[in-house]
Amino acid sequence: MCFNKRVGNVRRQTVRGKTLAALRKLRELAIVGRALASTGHPVMAQIVPMRFCNLSCAYCNEYDKVSEPVPLDEMLRRIDHLGRLRTSIITISGGEPLTHPELDEVIRRIRKVGALAGMITNGYLLNAERIERLNRAGLDHMQISIDNIEPDEVSKKSLKVLDKKLEMLAEYAEFHVNINSVVGGGIREPNDALVIGKRALGLGFTSTIGIIHDGSGQLKPLKENEAKVYFEMRGMKKRNYSRFNHFQEAIALGKPNDWRCRAGSRYLYICENGLVHYCSQQRGFPGVPLASYTHQDVKREYRTAKSCSPNCTISCVHQISYIDHWRGPQSNVISPGSNSHHAGTVPELVSIRNADS
Ligand code: SF4
Ligand code: SF4
Repeated sequence: MCFNKRVGNVRRQTVRGKTLAALRKLRELAIVGRALASTGHPVMAQIVPMRFCNLSCAYCNEYDKVSEPVPLDEMLRRIDHLGRLRTSIITISGGEPLTHPELDEVIRRIRKVGALAGMITNGYLLNAERIERLNRAGLDHMQISIDNIEPDEVSKKSLKVLDKKLEMLAEYAEFHVNINSVVGGGIREPNDALVIGKRALGLGFTSTIGIIHDGSGQLKPLKENEAKVYFEMRGMKKRNYSRFNHFQEAIALGKPNDWRCRAGSRYLYICENGLVHYCSQQRGFPGVPLASYTHQDVKREYRTAKSCSPNCTISCVHQISYIDHWRGPQSNVISPGSNSHHAGTVPELVSIRNADS
């Protein structure tokens, strides 16, 4: 069944589409309300069902070419545990999640535990039938990162390759679609981000812009022409939640941010081995099995300062942490290699290279 009627190039939602979007908005408002009322649960978990990726972006080390899918029963156990922790949003990432053969069941389980279901994908494997299946599974949000207009040796996530997929999404997707473009990190033409953003808005999607960080998720100031594109994009309509803070602006200008990272608490990164990490950049901390992660761990990490926070560029963790920016000062610190938490100076954390989180 066709969900959206496209008029020219613009996505026009049907009554059913508008109703679903309104219900989703209500669920999102409830999530914000619950997050404000209580600090004892994760607001977002990113979970990896598949480390394998069908692409090989030059700046990325979040994928391999050999991993098998995480078995479905194991994925369901992990999602059930995130449900017990009262996680509000579960976002599937990778590798490339669409290469997991039982992804629809994973999405269904996320909805069954009461969480909002999101996915970050390169979009290559989308077609009308696949989009309809994602609709039926109950996907709420999809993000596709597009790096350039023409594919090159750095990235094949290109508008030229993906534009037909975007048109299909405009026609069939019941879920919210965000197109993220990037500047920095070896992307040859900063102006490509503007073209990609305008195309996304033209199709009726939302559009965001990210800054590619260095190998440890840390600050790497933009060049003048990159910063110009960044700020022009920010001036476009349909911006997301990040319009309400200045985290990314400071990064674009090469300035550190003063904030409290709530990774390990309000935000969890669950790797393919089922371990909890602060984020894709700090795999290894705390690095413990999700199955044994408790509300006590969530509370401890809420109070734990991360030494990498001033120059961090992981905007999704910042956005989640921003909910609590006015409360909960952090008194614990972490010792390198020991996973112990005590008062004192904050050491360097481990760093693992990543791509788009
Ligand atoms: S950035 Fe995404 S699409 Fe590119 S190799 Fe990494 S996981 Fe795959
Ligand atoms: S500040 Fe938080 S989100 Fe950023 S790299 Fe460190 S642990 Fe990850």
